[in-house]
Amino acid sequence: MIYDLHSHTTSSDGSLTPTELMVRADIKQIDALAITDHDSVSGLQEAKQAITSKGLKTQLINGVEISTKWHGYEIHIVGLALDIDDDVLLATLETQIKHREIRAQAISDKLAKKGIENVYKDAKNKAKGGAVSRTHFAKVLLERGVVSNFDAAFKKYLGKGKSAYVSPNWMDIESAIKIIHRANGIPVLAHPIRYDMSNKWLTKLIEEFAAWGGEAIEVGLTQISPNQREHMSRLANLNGLYSSQGSDFHSPAKWIELGRNLRLTEKCIPVWQHPKWKTA
Ligand code: AMP
Ligand code: MN
Ligand code: MN
Ligand code: MN
Repeated sequence: MIYDLHSHTTSSDGSLTPTELMVRADIKQIDALAITDHDSVSGLQEAKQAITSKGLKTQLINGVEISTKWHGYEIHIVGLALDIDDDVLLATLETQIKHREIRAQAISDKLAKKGIENVYKDAKNKAKGGAVSRTHFAKVLLERGVVSNFDAAFKKYLGKGKSAYVSPNWMDIESAIKIIHRANGIPVLAHPIRYDMSNKWLTKLIEEFAAWGGEAIEVGLTQISPNQREHMSRLANLNGLYSSQGSDFHSPAKWIELGRNLRLTEKCIPVWQHPKWKTA
């Protein structure tokens, strides 16, 4: 079984529609794919329909990636196998989307002060009705030739502490865990190795996440070293957490593919063994 439990569509900052992503997963022989758009579950219905209408073999797992704030860090909490019609979940995500709008305006204002005008409008167009994200801003800056590559947009303007960075108004981790639980889902700490924090902070993050009811962490990531994987699986076990794996696929590229290079260690208890596990 190939599990890929972290991916994005045009409902947030991915470039494939939910249908296109499901077709790709089927071609790549993924057995179970979780779609985990930023602060949105709006692509999941289309993805489910695509399975029926196109006769795909890939199973869909309902998912979401909620943006939270913790001690100045932006921490992503994935919810897996959740009920996407839960009213509190939907209302909370709507609030997050409003914060995204307000932040996008503020980012655009900061860019305008640097002489880069009207980026909000272009970023919104790129988002095509999905949740507007810094990814869309980076794409606009790249297209306009303001930066020479995608990462430079974050390094120069959009990243934490950079000239167009706007501190977001995300919910806290505990609230994200609560609403995922309310929707019968499994809260997963996303890509723990990517937060650019010391070991001490990371240990504290995982301990608090577990104490608040978090149930799994991502151990199988595309770009993780064997040492890091060992370390993460040890932290998972120490804190009584299941382990998850996912590519965080956003768009077709040479260096990333659905289901590629995702491995847990022998110590890990896979999140798909959780009693609450279910397909959409
Ligand atoms: P947002 O959720 O609007 O804050 O945007 C964050 C998204 O930008 C991430 O989910 C990534 O897809 C993308 N991204 C790409 N490069 C970077 C980077 N260097 N730092 C932060 N986000 C990045
Ligand atoms: Mn993203
Ligand atoms: Mn993330
Ligand atoms: Mn992601």
